[in-house]
Amino acid sequence: MTVPLVEMDGDEMTRILWKMIKDELILPFVDLKTEYYDLGLPKRDETGDRITTEAALACKKYGVGVKCATITPNAQRMTEYQLHQMWKSPNGTIRSILDGTVFRAPITIPSIHPVVKNWEKPITIARHAYGDVYKSVELKAGGPGTAKLVFDGEDGSHEEAVIQQFQGPGVIQGMHNSDKSIRSFAHSCFKYAIDTRQDLWFSTKDTISKTYDARFREIFDEVFQQYKARFEELGITYFYTLIDDAVARVIRSKGGFIWACKNYDGDVMSDMVSTAFGSLAMMTSVLVSPEGNYEYEAAHGTVTRHYYKYLQGEETSTNPMATIFAWSGALRQRGVKDGLEDLAGFADALEGACFDTLAEGIVTKDLVNLMEGVTPRPVNSAGFILAIRERLEKRLA
Ligand code: NAP
Ligand code: MG
Repeated sequence: MTVPLVEMDGDEMTRILWKMIKDELILPFVDLKTEYYDLGLPKRDETGDRITTEAALACKKYGVGVKCATITPNAQRMTEYQLHQMWKSPNGTIRSILDGTVFRAPITIPSIHPVVKNWEKPITIARHAYGDVYKSVELKAGGPGTAKLVFDGEDGSHEEAVIQQFQGPGVIQGMHNSDKSIRSFAHSCFKYAIDTRQDLWFSTKDTISKTYDARFREIFDEVFQQYKARFEELGITYFYTLIDDAVARVIRSKGGFIWACKNYDGDVMSDMVSTAFGSLAMMTSVLVSPEGNYEYEAAHGTVTRHYYKYLQGEETSTNPMATIFAWSGALRQRGVKDGLEDLAGFADALEGACFDTLAEGIVTKDLVNLMEGVTPRPVNSAGFILAIRERLEKRLA
């Protein structure tokens, strides 16, 4: 490796898996160069959460990061870890610094059949992670009266519109998005479609929301002009349709495309798509910034329930697949950026070894009831990782 990979360690069961993955599957094979940031909750507390900001800035500097799942503190964690403050979600902090879009895709294998039987290839959801209802302002209308939308420009301009003349009590919501954020979202989606050579679908409800949702469509159309030639060269397409039409087409599709969704649609649809593909433990996640910086991670959390068992000395069978694929994704991206074919080749071999292991029926417990056509042989986390290592050594020999 020539340029370091930004390595962000995390919490609980995934922190245990992180070390096992590095020791067994990475360090024996790769001359690994990382810049290490410990985003485990104790270290975040000790540094007043500066470590998270530093890690995000390092991702911007070097262009590729790999992150372990981390605890987002709540009231219970405040006492459990005796925190000085209820620190914000590290993912939220990293996302706002990189200004990225989150792409989530399932790891699919032949013996786990999606609930939707015509889905042959993974469907990637690209969720716009800014604004709309997640940053909205809400009021209760106490009784009869007029609700208005008002804009006072710094240039002295003034616009207003009546939302509703209430005859009785009701509710009101005001939400926004910015051209800048929508444009970043569009760039990230087109770049990711090119990188992964997949068609891009985008859906909103612009027949109903003729200004708000229409602005998303207009910006995507405008940004697409910069990528159109490259799309044609690669034989991939950009396709815009209404959200309800998209839902119907997704269900009837064979998969194998990226579905770009507004914030709320992405929140809801990613849970539907991931569940329909099988298991949260098999879902990868990558944050892509409009400048082309990448941060890879598993979509699941720190698997607390398993960690408490582990602390009591019980055996756990936690699935490391999504965390291994975060590593392989990041190493491959580093290889592509730095022109290191060996490194990209190693990433392929590592993923291949994971697939070999699952194909032989060696699985963690969460997959046992999902497999068809193969007799599953459940093992613990360490056993699963060692089985992958044996197959990786064979592939690399
Ligand atoms: P979770 O860690 O994703 O786990 C929820 C349940 O899903 C587990 O109890 C387990 O089910 C199953 N599961 C998830 N990943 C698995 C894996 N790799 N192998 C086997 N089973 C797996 O979600 P959570 O329990 O709601 O959250 C735990 C902590 O993670 C919280 O502190 C939260 O803040 C944090 N979190 C972090 C991220 C992130 O860093 N990106 C994302 C989400 C949550 P069974 O118990 O039935 O086996
Ligand atoms: Mg959700």
